[in-house]
Amino acid sequence: MQKTNDPAFLFIAVNELPADGQEKIIEDQSLWQKGLVEFGMDVRITSPLQATVELTRFPQGCLVKGHLGGEVALPCRRCAEEIRCPIDYDFEDFEELPVQEDDEEEEVALENDFNRESRISLVKGVPMLDLKALLWEEFMLALPDNPLCKPDCQGLCPVCGCNRNLGSCSCAETKADPRMAVFRTLTLDKNKSAATKKN
Ligand SMILES: [Zn+2]
Ligand SMILES: [Zn+2]
Repeated sequence: MQKTNDPAFLFIAVNELPADGQEKIIEDQSLWQKGLVEFGMDVRITSPLQATVELTRFPQGCLVKGHLGGEVALPCRRCAEEIRCPIDYDFEDFEELPVQEDDEEEEVALENDFNRESRISLVKGVPMLDLKALLWEEFMLALPDNPLCKPDCQGLCPVCGCNRNLGSCSCAETKADPRMAVFRTLTLDKNKSAATKKN
């Protein structure tokens, strides 16, 4: 099994893969770390991520089977408290070889393509798999959609901003949605102006 931190190693000539497939271990944290910084994401890697992939070439493309493991810290969606989230994620992608077509056909192909683009592109006629892009996208998919510190997290009070998990505040009894306050004011103002007009 190959193990390296050379970034060129993540750009793979599909036609040079051994017929019986190839396994790789990717532990270069910068691959994920750079993306987190670039996209300004509030996610911290707390236990190094490690990806293992198995690449198998087919006449139509390349099958990428893998696993991503590690741990990240990210804020609870409701109360913003940082939570630890283990990453233990399996993935399987089939990347199709790009077909060289004339422009017209290509346009039609693009219109009909509801899926994302293949991560294999032709570089000087050689099909190159961008494993870096693939591993970034799989990391995004591995993150929880709705991270919560606990299933019944009470979140923050929308009025005073206190963490409701730590205790209640005096505004806890207010039933009206504070976001609607602005509309209530508008209605009042409208009535007022209508009244002014009449008089
Ligand atoms: Zn929470
Ligand atoms: Zn409050």
